[in-house]
Amino acid sequence: MAIKNVDAELKKKIRRCMETLPLTINTHFGDPFQPDQWENTLDKIRYLKAQNYQGEIEVSTKWIISNEQINELYAINPDIWIICGITGINEVKNVTLDERFDNYLRICKKFKKTILNVRPLIPGINDSMEVLTPIIEVAAKGRKLLKHGGYLNPQSFENKKTKYDGLKQEIHALCEKLGVNDGPRCSCLVTDVTGKVNSTFEESPPVNLDVLEALGYNFEYNDGYVTLAGYEGSSTVTKGDVSFARLIVLSSRVVNNWNDPHVYIQMKGPDSQIVVCTSSWLHWAREVPCMVDCFYCHVRPENPIIQSFEAGDTGCSPIDLYHYLFED
Ligand code: SF4
Repeated sequence: MAIKNVDAELKKKIRRCMETLPLTINTHFGDPFQPDQWENTLDKIRYLKAQNYQGEIEVSTKWIISNEQINELYAINPDIWIICGITGINEVKNVTLDERFDNYLRICKKFKKTILNVRPLIPGINDSMEVLTPIIEVAAKGRKLLKHGGYLNPQSFENKKTKYDGLKQEIHALCEKLGVNDGPRCSCLVTDVTGKVNSTFEESPPVNLDVLEALGYNFEYNDGYVTLAGYEGSSTVTKGDVSFARLIVLSSRVVNNWNDPHVYIQMKGPDSQIVVCTSSWLHWAREVPCMVDCFYCHVRPENPIIQSFEAGDTGCSPIDLYHYLFED
């Protein structure tokens, strides 16, 4: 990979963009808090801290952790987002719903950026207010941030989550009554709290077009909208490229014209690793088998629909990506 030659001012701007990207750690192919991933998750968070990383950092988990672990994590970075899964589905035998509630509330006591995540809502299993009411009531005792989402059938190639519009309104009504924010997307909850730009929904014109170009993207800019045309020599545009471009230009005004449904971006990491970007987060993950082992999991490497996600270790610190592309 040749180092890209750009002037010092632009380099500064690119670095600023890269060091402020929202980043998710060890979120697919292994729970970030399961025993054989815990140290790796801490290492990554420590590493980012040492680099003075400025972006929001997230971990999504369904693992039960001890108070000692909560304290250990808090000592490294008290400011990370913990998206704590409570679905009302008995995913793990011997872990009761009450234990999950207790786990969430113990995490909330320390981490102010904790979101209760009820996802997936599986038709006929947990998509009823009977199941959801006690969960929402617990969210109201915690940090009052709730995320929910439909079910993606791991056997289906349609890659579409179930819709639950009527239930969504019921969830929202109860949340409103209890003072819980149930924003439509994780990114909305994050930006509601931080006041940062939510590039998934931001309607103001794109900025940082010079950064997008320096990163290697070919695009057209017309009437306030970016249309990606490819990356370096290639005319491929992945779904991940569109998401990444939105994060760089701090606007939703990047046309959704991907011609490849994969969520990786076309830029590779310093070790030639794939870099994944979904709508709200750039990913940095080590692949280990997930010990939570949900029957509904759709991100198992052996699953055929995983072709729209990527197997293997992915990503790196975005600051390292910057160095690899522009400094080293
Ligand atoms: S088994 Fe799949 S759905 Fe369940 S926690 Fe692990 S990665 Fe997430």
